[in-house]
Amino acid sequence: MEKESNNPEYIFVDGRVSAEKSQLIIDAISGEEVDTTRNILCLFGHSTTQTRAIEINHRQYATAPRCHENTYDVTYCTRSGCNYISYTLTGSRRIYCCT
Ligand SMILES: [Zn+2]
Ligand SMILES: [Zn+2]
Repeated sequence: MEKESNNPEYIFVDGRVSAEKSQLIIDAISGEEVDTTRNILCLFGHSTTQTRAIEINHRQYATAPRCHENTYDVTYCTRSGCNYISYTLTGSRRIYCCT
């Protein structure tokens, strides 16, 4: 069988996540190294907010349901230039998506 390679797809349930923070969240949950840059204001505590991110790995299985979905609860700092983030895997399941 032909091995299909697909990059995961990322969906943010909360549409207000900025481009900078979207990239931070994607880097973190996909296992990339995130540097520990902090905003100077964060010396006195981060300005955190929460969102939910969904990672879909397409065509992981030969038979339906073929795709796999991971759901993460994410807490991150809203300040520009701060890479503070923590996340928890809250769901993992196969989904009907691609055929
Ligand atoms: Zn911060
Ligand atoms: Zn799919």
